[in-house]
Amino acid sequence: MPNSENAVLIGGSIAIDNIKTPTAEGKNLLGGSASYTAIAASYFTSPIHLVGIIGKDFPQQHLDHFESKGISTVGLEKSEGDTFSWSGEYHENMNDRDTLDVAINVLEDWTPKVPAEMASAPVVVLANMHPVNQLQMIEQLTAEKPFIAADTMDLWITIANDELHEVLKKIDLLVINESEARDFCKTSNLMVAGERLLGKGPNNVVIKLGEFGAILFSQHAEGGEPSKFTLFGKNYDLFRCAAFPLCEVADPTGAGDSFLGALAGYLSSLEKSEYTFDDVRQAVVYGSVVASFTCEAFSTDKLAAVSKKEIEARLDLLRDLSHWPS
Ligand code: AMP
Repeated sequence: MPNSENAVLIGGSIAIDNIKTPTAEGKNLLGGSASYTAIAASYFTSPIHLVGIIGKDFPQQHLDHFESKGISTVGLEKSEGDTFSWSGEYHENMNDRDTLDVAINVLEDWTPKVPAEMASAPVVVLANMHPVNQLQMIEQLTAEKPFIAADTMDLWITIANDELHEVLKKIDLLVINESEARDFCKTSNLMVAGERLLGKGPNNVVIKLGEFGAILFSQHAEGGEPSKFTLFGKNYDLFRCAAFPLCEVADPTGAGDSFLGALAGYLSSLEKSEYTFDDVRQAVVYGSVVASFTCEAFSTDKLAAVSKKEIEARLDLLRDLSHWPS
């Protein structure tokens, strides 16, 4: 398969999820960080290359579904084991959840293999997976200067902190939840956390605030105008993005992954070799909007059914809701 200018390479988990919310329950659902990320990215660009591993129990219908969205599954390894499975339960406040069960299964001894024709993708997403797997993917990349965006989670901050720090030195953008950012940086102040995360390597950090949106912190490009914002006397670019307000949240699983996928897909669609702060800011708004659709149904049901027109309409509404004329 030829590698086009705006390909996105996505590695992460492909899962079967079991989800409980205060009002409903879903079993044997399509889940996994890479699944949500790839579907979200598919609204903005193509081809999308998926790297992951599935077991013999993984339904063919999901593979067909990926392909129907322009997502190549050539990089999906098929194992004789069982697919990775995650079970979670949401609290009354849907920003909080507990992991009930994790069946690592085929992820146990997995080493991601990036097919040669995908390794030169200009935009790469390391969706949530073990930082060692993220590093293994980075080692296989062949583009001169790919833009690498990565996600992580509390588990890796606890059990793979050193490896996560290695990842951070090699990426361009990190997305992380606010509670994880506070834990990781050992501070309750999110401005301090953002500054510390930038200090660990990436030029851009997005701290996600669930239903309250996200904050983008970027290193200020040298040479131009001074930045409007300083943190601890240093120039940074900052953007506070609102979330699209929802009256009903069915299942927020995968919202963060969808955010990341839309962000990466939008950047890739620009077909640039370097992204400005304005580009990344716009990508964050798309991330916020696409994540809102994911929350409206279980699994990828709403995310996969939305149209580009609906995404654009929600983006316009979010702009109206979150800016004022004077
Ligand atoms: P999010 O709600 O954006 O944090 O993403 C939830 C998705 O992450 C679910 O579909 C899970 O299958 C997947 N997931 C949960 N735990 C892990 C893990 N340890 N490694 C990789 N993916 C995971």
